[in-house]
Amino acid sequence: MEDKKCKNCGSVDFAEATDYMPVKPNKMSLQGSNKIYTFCLSCGEVHSIRIEDTTIFKR
Ligand SMILES: [Zn+2]
Repeated sequence: MEDKKCKNCGSVDFAEATDYMPVKPNKMSLQGSNKIYTFCLSCGEVHSIRIEDTTIFKR
């Protein structure tokens, strides 16, 4: 587990959330992948945004 610390408030409590809109390689793509947000539970500062499945972007 990576050592995370909020750059805004210094808290070390983080949670993950996903967006309702998947990201896609382009507008016509049927396949999409979820975005995973890692954010501070204390103040809401987003630590990172990750793409869940990167394989659909590889060709
Ligand atoms: Zn914070």
